[in-house]
Amino acid sequence: MLIRNVEVYGQIMDVRTKGKLISEIGPHLGGVADFNGKGGAILPGLHDHHIHLNATAAALNSVRCGPPNVEDEEQLIAALNADGEGWLRGVGYHHSVAGEIDREWLDANGPDRPVRIQHRSGRLWILNSRALNELAIKTPRNGRLYDSDHLMRRRGFPDLTSLIKKLKSWGITGVTEVTPSNGLAEFDNYLEQAGDLNLSIMGNSELTDLNHTRRGHLKLHYHDHDLPPLSNLVREISVAHHAGRPVAAHCVTRAELMMTLAAIEEAGPMSGDRIEHAAIADQAAIEWMQRLGVIVVTQPNFITERLDAYRQDVPGKDHPNLWRLKSFADAGLRLAAGSDAPFGDPNPWAAMAAAVNRPAGFEHEAISPEEALALYTKPVNDAGGKPRRVAVGEPADLIVLDNSWEEAKANLLAVRASKL
Ligand SMILES: [Zn+2]
Repeated sequence: MLIRNVEVYGQIMDVRTKGKLISEIGPHLGGVADFNGKGGAILPGLHDHHIHLNATAAALNSVRCGPPNVEDEEQLIAALNADGEGWLRGVGYHHSVAGEIDREWLDANGPDRPVRIQHRSGRLWILNSRALNELAIKTPRNGRLYDSDHLMRRRGFPDLTSLIKKLKSWGITGVTEVTPSNGLAEFDNYLEQAGDLNLSIMGNSELTDLNHTRRGHLKLHYHDHDLPPLSNLVREISVAHHAGRPVAAHCVTRAELMMTLAAIEEAGPMSGDRIEHAAIADQAAIEWMQRLGVIVVTQPNFITERLDAYRQDVPGKDHPNLWRLKSFADAGLRLAAGSDAPFGDPNPWAAMAAAVNRPAGFEHEAISPEEALALYTKPVNDAGGKPRRVAVGEPADLIVLDNSWEEAKANLLAVRASKL
């Protein structure tokens, strides 16, 4: 593949790929161009190192069907017919919007997709004909099903098509799926739906003996209120390590982090062990993490997205310890980033913007745009590794931005990308 007229670290070049690698970079390479970048920056494909795909897809695919977003029939019809593919899941319907709507109403006014709308009471689902057919539901004929959540589960996993399309529009070419309950069924489903998205799939102990390149870490997900005895956690980590599987531990609070580090120390750290979030980390925690060689996977977006809550709920003395970036980097900790969608915004450029322009009172942890970008270009299976580069011999996992890197840096929030 020949990619013409792209910006490679400040210079306009052509880039040739052969198979899975970059084979040549230079001005005016011979051959017919497959893609003209029009001067846009070429970068390694971005990787979201912490995302929950099914939950994000379900949230993304849910259309709000009631007040305050939707107040009348006309607004409901507009909401249902917005762009989208696969199943449409509506939530929050109330009869003040358009009365007791049913199958017939949905067939006449909704899109030509399987549609199911949940009444805001949570008890009633209203389905169109395509949805009833797909779920093999014969009665009631009017498509109004009370207390039928078990029938909805026949639908299986959410359709990931629109989510993956959205991720790609930001230049994301790979993700690490981190849902703790992922077992073999989820594993197969992600692989089936992901297409050419690079995947690492974390999950529960069901995956530990799976011999597959996509198998990710054992996800440990304990909270302050249900922390297990230290010895149990040590055993869980040891079993995974003995099977050659590193662990990734959810650590939002100080207690969760201390407990996890103690357990990893006792079990003996394994290369690749990860701390997810590390939302609160003081100097002692930073030094401990560094000593154990764990990788930190942070969410730069939260300091902006949840600012009001932090200002209200986190004591002032802990503000310097909140969602650190620069201190982690300065301490030599190996660092990568992910969105934690659907809890965070899945747009990596919004997160990079938040890492560079931290809110007042939190600026001391800001990093440069290049450092922020590097958090999203670590290899798929090694969040602690060296960022991928656009260079001969590197993977041909590439994206081209709509504009130059200088322009992109000036307005990170607006960046859009094409996958090559
Ligand atoms: Zn998460």
